[in-house]
Amino acid sequence: MKKHNFLTEFTRASLEDYLKDNPDPVAIIPIGSIEQHGPHLPLGTDTFAATALAEAVAQKTDAVVVPLCWPGVSEHHMGFKGTITLKPDTLRAVLNDGIESLSRHGFKRVLVINGHGGNTQTMDYAIAEAGKKFGVAVQTNRAVPADPATSARYSLQHFDVHAGQDETSYMLHIKPELVEMERMQGFAPTAVFPPQMDKLRDMLSENSDPSVLMQLAMAYVPPSHVLTSSGVWGKLSPEHSTAEAGRKSFEANVERLVKLIELWDQVK
Ligand SMILES: [Zn+2]
Repeated sequence: MKKHNFLTEFTRASLEDYLKDNPDPVAIIPIGSIEQHGPHLPLGTDTFAATALAEAVAQKTDAVVVPLCWPGVSEHHMGFKGTITLKPDTLRAVLNDGIESLSRHGFKRVLVINGHGGNTQTMDYAIAEAGKKFGVAVQTNRAVPADPATSARYSLQHFDVHAGQDETSYMLHIKPELVEMERMQGFAPTAVFPPQMDKLRDMLSENSDPSVLMQLAMAYVPPSHVLTSSGVWGKLSPEHSTAEAGRKSFEANVERLVKLIELWDQVK
């Protein structure tokens, strides 16, 4: 049985014991962001979310969480106070060096849990490169919706992708003490979408594929402070968020990732 869930909590000696018992260990790297999340959610929301998920998965498996860095690629939120952005090359280098170090200690399987959409392209590039270079099998946390068309339709209709109802529910579950719900009383959504996005949403009633419409809509998302004066994206008010909804989606994510690691263990 391993002693800790976070690499940073092991002593060198206890890590050596762990590696002896686990000849093909899994390291989980959570990444996220430091960026504005509306008036009511903490700046560290995305990394808190990815780390909580990583910890819960590590508790149920033999994996170890490696907290490599807190900020991510957040240039699109720099119009708001508090955002710290890494350049894509910086995040790429951090992931590269982290995976190299893990590989040299015997971690040949790495799962990157990403809590922030702005990291996606950089993460994909970094892990494709580092995986090959250091002989590490790298997997990412990509939620595949059971019904992609329904999910795309919902996303396009509400665009509830940042600091909105879903994310607030999630934070009410994992870090309720950091959520300032009193700032959301009587909140009216402030997002003003570019005409192309509105047109694509209107096309939902026709016979078009919602996934393709959503894909096209993503090409027109402006910088965060242009899209929404409150920093809350989307058309749903976080006023109606609940910890219970957050718990459900958190637990579904944990279950999916625990299963992923269990399946991975069967092929090692
Ligand atoms: Zn977020």
